Order: sequence, then structure tokens, then C-alpha cells
Amino acid sequence: MDIIVLRPDASEKDIERIVKKLEGKGLKTTVSKGTERTVIGVIGDTSKITEEEENAVRAMRGVEEVMRILKPYKLASRDFKAQDTIVKVRGKVIGGKKIPVIAGPCAVENKTMMMNIAEKVKAAGASFIRGGAYKPRTSPYSFQGLGEEGLQYLAEASKKTGLPVVTEIMDPRDLETILKYTDIIQIGARNMQNFRLLLEVGMCKKPVLLKRGLSATIQEWLMAAEYIMSKGNQHVILCERGIRTFETATRNTLDLSSVPVLHQKTHLPVIVDPSHGVGKWDLVAPMAKAAVAAGADGLLIEVHTNPEDAMSDGEQSLKPDAFKKLMSELKPIAKAVGREI
Ligand code: PEP
Ligand code: MN
Repeated sequence: MDIIVLRPDASEKDIERIVKKLEGKGLKTTVSKGTERTVIGVIGDTSKITEEEENAVRAMRGVEEVMRILKPYKLASRDFKAQDTIVKVRGKVIGGKKIPVIAGPCAVENKTMMMNIAEKVKAAGASFIRGGAYKPRTSPYSFQGLGEEGLQYLAEASKKTGLPVVTEIMDPRDLETILKYTDIIQIGARNMQNFRLLLEVGMCKKPVLLKRGLSATIQEWLMAAEYIMSKGNQHVILCERGIRTFETATRNTLDLSSVPVLHQKTHLPVIVDPSHGVGKWDLVAPMAKAAVAAGADGLLIEVHTNPEDAMSDGEQSLKPDAFKKLMSELKPIAKAVGREI
């Protein structure tokens, strides 16, 4: 038993009684009140519940149906919550009709570049700024990010433009610092299965942008989202950024079919990062357009004023003019699929 669907006339007292009964069995519950129905989700090892116990709950006042979710993820599942999750951050919405674009450099390199890029992406219509202050680099000798100094530049750029910030966390020890500066916490591809990190961000209130692991299946990715949600943070945004395949023409293989697949399987918003998906700036625009056509709820695009000298991911970064052009080219595509950009 994983989901208890209540009758439309179930009272608060009925809900309380059911919750108490389940919690008495060492299980946790989340009550989600939809427009038509209230559903109680049961979290924990529900396999221990016997058929008799399940029938006893089925017979309680206010209960319409008791169901099992066969998938290993529950809170993230559409069966558990049919309505789309909409994440709201400082006046911006992810998961609504408008498709927000998160844009900025791969890494925050200095204050001038951050301010400059933030203003340019804002003028082009971006909804969020991004930039890494803690960078997951393949080589320990590559630029590792400016740390808190980088976060300060992001916060200043945010203050100047009014755009909220997305930045990556790599280590739970940085969480407190990062929370002071960011609006959305990014978990990068390399940390998608860093379970301790997932649990830590699950305990805070800020939304989490969870990137797909380098070779993660959709189910593994949803299980990672489940880790975050199991700690109480339901504001998870999934980000497709390409996976490893045998193909070497692009940095990764951008799996755009994950967008409609995820929309079937989960109520969480799904955004696409074509920059890391393809790894080459001149392939970013076509894949960004394809992502919007496939139903993406947002885009993440790397932008740099001087990609030739970028300290990371220059080869996949758009110059501000190309970004601006892309933003206007995305408009008719968004319109064709009933969205706005
Ligand atoms: C990034 O967003 O700059 C990044 C490191 O992305 P990913 O984790 O998808 O490689
Ligand atoms: Mn990058």
C-alpha cells in the first residue's frame, strides 16, 4: 500500500485518523490535496504491510481506494501526483506555460565578466542567471572555481539584473554558504548519485535542479529525485544534459526522448541543457529548438562574452549575440507547441 485515495467528502478528522494509523506502523505520510481529491502517500518500507492491514485501512472512513505503486519511485511518480509540479522562485515559474531560460557562463571567472554576461542574457530574455563557483573538473589541475568569491559575484549580478541564481553544489560542507547566495541549487551530472548530497539538499527548502548522470537510466535519475523528495523537498527540477554513448561526434548524446518519457512518468518539471548535451556552440541552437518542440519546461544555456578565453566549456558557449538570436528563434517554436518563451 503506497497511496490512499480519499473520498471527496473525507474530513480532516478522517485524514488525521488514517495518518495516525500509518505512523503507528512506523511509516511516514505526505498528504497532497488536489483540486478534486486528497491523496495520502505512504513512505517507507511498505512491503511490510500485510494484506489484512491493508484491508483494515481500506475499510476506514474517508478512504476510497488503497493502491500500490509498482515503480520504485513514489513521490516523484505521476501515479502519486497527477498534476504537474510548478516551481516558483522569486517571481519566476518553472513548469508553467512560459519556458524559462537559465543562462550564463560555465564558471564564474571574475566580477566584470559575470556582471556583463548577466546583463546581456537578461536583455535577451533569460529568466535566471547561472555560473559555477565550485566546478567538477576532470583534472585536479584545471580551474576549480572561485568558491565563495564566485557566489558573491553571482549575487551582485542577481541584484543588478533582478534575475534569480542557479549554481552547483559539489560538497555538503558548502551547503550553508551556497544557500546564502543561490535561489536554485544545482546537482551536477557527476553527483547525481551522490546520495548523501541528495539527502542534504532534500532537507533544505530551496528548489534543486537535478542533472541527469553521465550514464544514468531514467529510472536511476528518478530514484535520485526520490532521495531528495524523501527528505521533504518536493521542488525538484530535472535537467537532461546528454548521456555517454558510443558516439564521439558530440560531447554527449542529448537524449531528447527523455522529455516526453519523463512527462509520462513524473509530475516534476523537465528542462534541457543542450550546451553540455552537444559540447559545440554551433549545435546548441538546433538542439535548444528541438528541446522546446519536445516539450521541455525550460532550457539551460551556457553563454560567454569571450568563449575563446573561457576557463571552462568555451567551445560550447554561445556569445551574447548568438544567444539573443536563439531566444527570438525559439519564440515561434514555443508558440507551435502551446508555450511561450
Ligand atoms: C555545468 O552545468 O557547468 C556542469 C558541470 O554540467 P554537468 O554536470 O551537466 O556536466
Ligand atoms: Mn559547463
